[in-house]
Amino acid sequence: MVAKKNDNSSGIIGILDLQGGVHEHLDHLHRLGIAGRKVKQAADFDNLAGLIIPGGESSCIFRLLNIFEIKNPLLAACRQGMKIWGTCAGAILLAKKVVGENACLGLIDIEVERNSFGSQLDSFKSEARIPEVDADSIPLTFIRAPKILNAGSTVKVLLKIGDYIAAAENDNILVTIFHPELTASTAFHRYFAAKCKVSCRINTESRADEGWNYCSWTRHARIA
Ligand code: GLN
Repeated sequence: MVAKKNDNSSGIIGILDLQGGVHEHLDHLHRLGIAGRKVKQAADFDNLAGLIIPGGESSCIFRLLNIFEIKNPLLAACRQGMKIWGTCAGAILLAKKVVGENACLGLIDIEVERNSFGSQLDSFKSEARIPEVDADSIPLTFIRAPKILNAGSTVKVLLKIGDYIAAAENDNILVTIFHPELTASTAFHRYFAAKCKVSCRINTESRADEGWNYCSWTRHARIA
């Protein structure tokens, strides 16, 4: 069987829809006027310019990739030109080395340590300037995040904070240990779209959409 070429002509970016923050990424793509597609089975990879692997629980997504039999179709699509961005758990799945555990996809030469900041209660927000990605400072949300401990020579570090790397890329893969989809900023989604050669039909400034307040992970509880 001849593998179908993945190119950017479709202008579609997929979101791996097994577990985790799928809708938040779709929402950000939608805000930029980019067509997004949920990806759950092998046929869904056809003609994707890019794929986002969302944050969630990497061990769960790892198992579901095997149960749904889409690990090999994903790797084949990547070989055919599909770019991939992993946020948090997604970055863990893309890493070549995971401290104390088996690596899953091994598509970028980084070593990650899961839950490296502590428990869910040690989650935090910050911000940083990443000149390659945006002229403005970018808000960063870390949720039970891994640390990228080191990166090989094929990897470009986009953001280093103290002793760990927080964002990095190679020619085909982008990884962030934080969650741009849980902030108002569309800077990283625009950056990934450019990597996929997909154009944004809506030209928002990264912080222009002040009205954005999509925080499904911090819904207000009604306390009687
Ligand atoms: N701690 C999770 C894991 O190891 C990642 C958390 C996240 O994606 N926000 O898979």
